[in-house]
Amino acid sequence: MTFDELGLGPNVLKAVKEAGYETPTPIQAQAIPHVILGGDVTGIAQTGTGKTAAFVLPMIHRLARGRARARMPRCLILAPTRELAAQVAENFEKYGKYNKLSMALLIGGVSFKDQDRLLMAGVDVLIATPGRLMDQFERGKLLLTGVETLIIDEADRMLDMGFIPDIEKICSLLPPKRQTLLFSATMPPEITRLAEKFQTLPKRVEVSRPTQTADTITQYVVKIPSNDDKAKRTALRRVIESCEVKNGIVFCNRKREVDVVVKSLNKHGHDAAAIHGDLPQAYRTQTLERFRDGDLKLLVASDVAARGLDVPDVSHVFNYAPPPKDEDYIHRIGRTGRAGRTGESYTIVSPGDEKAWAGVLRMIKKDVAEFTPEGLAEELADLPPDETRRSRAKGRGGRGRDRDRGGRSREREDQPREEAPAETREPAHEKPERESGEKRERRSERNRDRKRKDDDLILQPAADGVKGFGEHVPDFLKR
Ligand code: AMP
Repeated sequence: MTFDELGLGPNVLKAVKEAGYETPTPIQAQAIPHVILGGDVTGIAQTGTGKTAAFVLPMIHRLARGRARARMPRCLILAPTRELAAQVAENFEKYGKYNKLSMALLIGGVSFKDQDRLLMAGVDVLIATPGRLMDQFERGKLLLTGVETLIIDEADRMLDMGFIPDIEKICSLLPPKRQTLLFSATMPPEITRLAEKFQTLPKRVEVSRPTQTADTITQYVVKIPSNDDKAKRTALRRVIESCEVKNGIVFCNRKREVDVVVKSLNKHGHDAAAIHGDLPQAYRTQTLERFRDGDLKLLVASDVAARGLDVPDVSHVFNYAPPPKDEDYIHRIGRTGRAGRTGESYTIVSPGDEKAWAGVLRMIKKDVAEFTPEGLAEELADLPPDETRRSRAKGRGGRGRDRDRGGRSREREDQPREEAPAETREPAHEKPERESGEKRERRSERNRDRKRKDDDLILQPAADGVKGFGEHVPDFLKR
């Protein structure tokens, strides 16, 4: 099948050709003709399957007819995170370059003044995160009665982030006669219910979940004999130094790990920067841009912050540890070896990671070669115990669990699921009265500062000398 057979107009086809695509991906081939005809689609597909173009291309085609009216967008696209929303916007620009369509973006970190001016003039497409959209709607800055098509991208992530009530509210504000496209990597019961409630006879398009890694990626596992953080960081550096890295992404399972790894890499002369949900939006955007432009060699990321981000041509992926969810391994290493290029991935596995690694191997059904950088084994054997761990034990005053001052277990904060970008960690639907976007941003900033202080407390040695266990680190803590 070729793109010419899908029913797209010449302007869209020209842009697709310039993007270098020769054949539509399965989700594009199945969804595009149906969307062009105005039908609803439930697309079960994850990033990397070409799903963004599967809705952006026919949308541009459809929007080419008709005109936008002031404050009344014609197409509304909801995305769970700012980065994903910005990425959809980029796709619109790329594929819509030969169609005169206007677009506004309602996400944190983008000046609302400029977007409001665009809305006032009338936009064809409005791309937004649900929280921001509701804020602006409630301020009376927006009319949703002109929306002809609603697109919900990454619906299951919306569910994880507590956005479903917002989405239901938004759906109830739209004209009942409209086209609704819903894309989700998985279909948990809540999303199935959402689809049943808000779609009309949708065409179900399912693209099989990749459980196979691309052959263009050479995978390695780096096994280390210790669970010590310092040993892991040393192993990571040695692996990086033994490869010819043009640019690489280092994936960590926890936000705090991201910060510590970046600090360690920088300290040892590596060009690395962090991206995770607790960092200010402006910093995240700037870091990503630097990485895309080739001005930054190593991007250290959490899964949530990096998911769905389209960074073409990455030479290496490093897993600081196997991911907690097996299928994230495919997402992660799929950042390299794209579009026929070759790439390498390295996963560091300590004894404590063995179980997670076994899960990954079961899923990919492939053997992964072991790699040990020269001299690493000897270096690890000579390492003194990790200072960070010792001081953490001291700072904790000898309590066996990692607890904050309120006695709450800190472990929960470290779970990857909690790593949603700051704006999404405060589902506004829980409050009867909505805060303004600015107020909300300020509050997240305060929370972030507070959390950073908490982290500092843990990472720094107790100023007033030995506390709790003193120099002794009990075995269960090391484990
Ligand atoms: P997505 O699943 O939308 O995140 O797309 C993943 C990547 O596939 C992006 O880099 C797109 O530019 C690329 N892509 C989308 N459609 C095609 C196609 N038909 N042929 C080749 N690459 C594509």
